Amino acid sequence: DVDPAPASAPDHAVCPFCGVGCALRYDERRGVGVGAKGAVNRRGELCPKGVAAYDVVGDDERLTAPMVRDAPGGGLREASWDEALSRVVDEFAGVRDEFGPDALAFFASSNCTNEENYVLGKLARVLGTNNVDNCARLCHASTVAAMAGRFGAGAMTNTLDDVGEADCFLVWGANPAEQHPVIFSSYLYPALKRGTDLVVVDPRETATARHADVHLPVRPGYDIPLLNAMCAVVLDEGLEGDAFLDARIDADSLDALRAHLDGFDVDAAAERAGVDPADLRAAARLYGGADRAAAFTGMGTSQHHCGTANVHALLNLALLTGNVGKRGAGVNPLRGQNNVQGAGDVGALPNVLPGYRPVTDRDARAAVADVWGVSPPAEPGLTEVELTHRFGDEVRAAYVFGENPAVTEPNANRVADALDDVFLVVHDIYPSETTEYADVVLPGSAFAEKDGTVTNTDRQIQRSRPSADPPGDARRDFDVLTEVARRLAAETGVAADLATPGFDYPDPEAAFDELRRVAPIYAGVSYAGIGAASQRWPFPEGATEGTGVLHAETFANGERRARLEPVDHVDPADEVEETQLVLTTGRVLQHFNSGAVTRRSGVLTRLRGEDSLQIHPEDAAERGVADGDRLVVENDRGRVEVAAEVTPAVRRGTVFCTFHFAEPLANRLTGDALDPTAKIPEYKHSAVHVRVASEG
Ligand code: SF4
Repeated sequence: DVDPAPASAPDHAVCPFCGVGCALRYDERRGVGVGAKGAVNRRGELCPKGVAAYDVVGDDERLTAPMVRDAPGGGLREASWDEALSRVVDEFAGVRDEFGPDALAFFASSNCTNEENYVLGKLARVLGTNNVDNCARLCHASTVAAMAGRFGAGAMTNTLDDVGEADCFLVWGANPAEQHPVIFSSYLYPALKRGTDLVVVDPRETATARHADVHLPVRPGYDIPLLNAMCAVVLDEGLEGDAFLDARIDADSLDALRAHLDGFDVDAAAERAGVDPADLRAAARLYGGADRAAAFTGMGTSQHHCGTANVHALLNLALLTGNVGKRGAGVNPLRGQNNVQGAGDVGALPNVLPGYRPVTDRDARAAVADVWGVSPPAEPGLTEVELTHRFGDEVRAAYVFGENPAVTEPNANRVADALDDVFLVVHDIYPSETTEYADVVLPGSAFAEKDGTVTNTDRQIQRSRPSADPPGDARRDFDVLTEVARRLAAETGVAADLATPGFDYPDPEAAFDELRRVAPIYAGVSYAGIGAASQRWPFPEGATEGTGVLHAETFANGERRARLEPVDHVDPADEVEETQLVLTTGRVLQHFNSGAVTRRSGVLTRLRGEDSLQIHPEDAAERGVADGDRLVVENDRGRVEVAAEVTPAVRRGTVFCTFHFAEPLANRLTGDALDPTAKIPEYKHSAVHVRVASEG
């Protein structure tokens, strides 16, 4: 159902369950969320997660009071806010005194507002550390690294509105029909009906791949040979965008790419990537031959220890064919969480300040210090996975805001040990697998209980408004974070140096107004300007509106020409023994991220209550596996049990399960290998043994 009221109505929130950013409100009569026609969601549709979003707001298991643990191994007990916050402040200030500011870690939240993430990032930096990161590290850090490095902006180059003008969609490592359902139903599917071609690259025949003209079921970890082969076909068949190459590409780098691909064996690359060479050529012809071709990229591309190189290879293909800087084209990362784009925009990353200005840039630090009164440190901080690797050693205290690293980080058995080794504060709305390790638990506010802005996957900043109060003694997250920040700044003596208002913001809008002063890409955005709709970044000071299609005349880094970057294949981190299969993980329509929230929805768990392992019939037959059998999936990092789903939809040699469940916890099997640039883990390729559980 679509709400006839506009999305600006005071009780409309932004759906918390993916980066599309659909506006919705609660329909009391029917007890469901209803969509609103808004800036992002033109038709006002919701997917099942949006309809069920309010199930999880009023759930009986919500955290309603602060809790503290008096001794290791003891239980959590209820405490007053004053006791809990005093404990946080005493421990954090004590660790800072004894071990220095870099012994502190702050995990911000891709599922919370820009204002909340901005406050947490500012707190980390005025305390003297850049150890602040968010869940973007685990999904698209490599995409951001490659795109920001090459173009100067790590975000969708285009908008949902213009991509429908494409003649060809190339969906690489993403499944929008299930993971971004409203993008698929409102923007992609109508174009497909009009005749837009679709190429899908995915090891599985997903709901998106079933609509494809060409589906390339790539072997996990072998994207680069496939992308290089597509570039080679484009060059061999004269499909490159000559005018764009002349005007917008560095000539030396074009020569270097031509030399790199000279004599490239397309058939051998296809075999290596596990796809039919004829299909590969057909895909290259559809993409390279289109006037306008829009690429979409997801975690199938980014979550590899060569994720940054994968995205660079995709950027080469888009640039080579002239598909950047115009409508109906571009390279468009589909972001997972509802504010994963915004959390990075506002500086909840260890290497960049608000607006993606490097912490190493003296001028950027000075500009921030002018506003804050305190300069951020110059050394980049550690990323999320690096931080947990150092828990108990270099890192002694961690504030985890709205995240569940016990489930979301790779090599979960190692993470469980590490979480025991720090003073751990968890600020969340539910007991989670991570609160089991917490020394202090702070009850937070759900999406429908908070005021603030979130930034969606195509850079639109929307207002999300409260329609309820947090339950019991729980408080709004913004109020809790500013209180923690005020107390910590006072206890550590930092408060004396802070420029007004310090952390004394009267409301989230005041924090947003300060954010605009330190993040030039947000300078023109305001609550008043967002009003009933949205505003899009980059929106520099003096502009009359935000920018839709990026890189049209110059790239966001100010350069007229981009470079092509020859990329070589890197073998996956796990060697695969002959008897092993490759586990790749991903999402399904009904659940969100670690599942800590959606697993509490009666509707969503009725639709999908447990996980299964997709296995190809021939791999199943070799192991005596029948559909529904209980399987043991294991490697030297861990072991899980899960039901078999025998299906030809997954390629031979590969098995698939989700990362939404605490049991089976897929991340017990994933490894610690990180991309050298972006430090993103290799979730998409883990060597595992699979057998029927009854075999012992
Ligand atoms: Fe929520 Fe995404 Fe579904 Fe929209 S498409 S209702 S934002 S989960």
